[in-house]
Amino acid sequence: TESLESRDAELFDAIRGELGRQRDEIELIASENIVSAAVMEAQGSVMTNKYAEGYPGRRYYGGCQWVDVAEELAIERATKLFGCGFANVQPNSGSQANQAVSLALLKPGDTILGMSLDAGGHLTHGAAPNQSGKWFNAVQYGVRRDTLDVDYDEIARLAEEHKPAMIIAGGSAIPRQLDFARFREIADSVGAWLLADVAHFAGLIAAGVYPSPFPHVHVATTTTHKTLRGPRGGMILTDDAALAKKFNSAIFPGIQGGPLMHVIAAKAVAFGEALRPEFKTYQKQVIANAKALGESLVEGGLDLVTGGTDSHVLLVDLRPKGVKGNATEKALGRAHITCNKNGIPFDTEKPMVTSGIRLGSPAGTTRGFGEPEFRQVGRWITEVVDGLATNGEEGNGAVEEKVKGEVAELCGRFPLYPQL
Ligand code: PLP
Repeated sequence: TESLESRDAELFDAIRGELGRQRDEIELIASENIVSAAVMEAQGSVMTNKYAEGYPGRRYYGGCQWVDVAEELAIERATKLFGCGFANVQPNSGSQANQAVSLALLKPGDTILGMSLDAGGHLTHGAAPNQSGKWFNAVQYGVRRDTLDVDYDEIARLAEEHKPAMIIAGGSAIPRQLDFARFREIADSVGAWLLADVAHFAGLIAAGVYPSPFPHVHVATTTTHKTLRGPRGGMILTDDAALAKKFNSAIFPGIQGGPLMHVIAAKAVAFGEALRPEFKTYQKQVIANAKALGESLVEGGLDLVTGGTDSHVLLVDLRPKGVKGNATEKALGRAHITCNKNGIPFDTEKPMVTSGIRLGSPAGTTRGFGEPEFRQVGRWITEVVDGLATNGEEGNGAVEEKVKGEVAELCGRFPLYPQL
């Protein structure tokens, strides 16, 4: 009966602080979103108490009748959303979903072909410090120098040369649409498995505003917390019954123990929300907002990698202003605009410095921002960046203060979690 506030004041304060930060600042991190109160309610539910190793109807523990309902709902809704036959909703994260696919389909030492981190890929696609880079012979593809978009000719060439056991499509900073059919053609030409990691695009795909990996891929993995707007977690999708069995075994008992049933319950709620017509309207607005933000930044004199976006994410090339990603992330933070520094393709700066920032529209769009608000955000970013260009790393304090005030006013017009 004791409240969190009276039982643990320090932790309570940290949560209130985080709520305040989310309320008062503009969230532009492309991999983040703002879940509904219903999703949080499910995640904060008694399902956290339950052990449920195994799968619905085949558990290693008694008392699973209600968590089975939650997991079955999550699976049924996920397969409906993505138009595929099977879903494993137990991965604790996107990384663990990818790890399980590797465990199911590969042996240590096998060759994999994924997008390099520098070009926009994810750590789990074969980066050196990640398990995928240590336990497999990871060959990495990048983007074309002319378009800065995914280089399919290079993928075909590297596939032919290295004969990978698995090719991974997808990444964390790819503004344009992926051609899954082209990926499959290349995979088939060398007999490789094709995995699409659609973590970033999942919500757009579910809403039909971005190409679907099905029927082209053998398997797709995703996180559930980015554009899909669910709780933090992962998921594996496939149309192939035999593969589905392998992925189930790879998740449990392969790499995980008891599933996070409260998170799976929250996934079910989020997938239910994503099946509603409003979700399509939301995702259309996500793309329209990203485009509006991009146009506003270009008007302000910044460059965009690939010249724009067809998705929720923008990669901003700061070089026209002569400023760095790390200084820009900090300066925008001072103005209460949150984003992350990000290398741009062929970046000559170190990963902790970078020549770019990555921006995304999912969280702001959930909050209710439309194109006028995103254009305004673009103007504020330009002002803050111009302060850095003129004054060096400390930026223009007066401009940052002014923007911070205007950000507060905008955030006040779009209240977040008023019930909390
Ligand atoms: N795959 C891609 C493409 C991602 O962008 C991410 C997250 O950043 C992941 C996988 C990993 O997800 P998680 O952070 O849940 O492990």
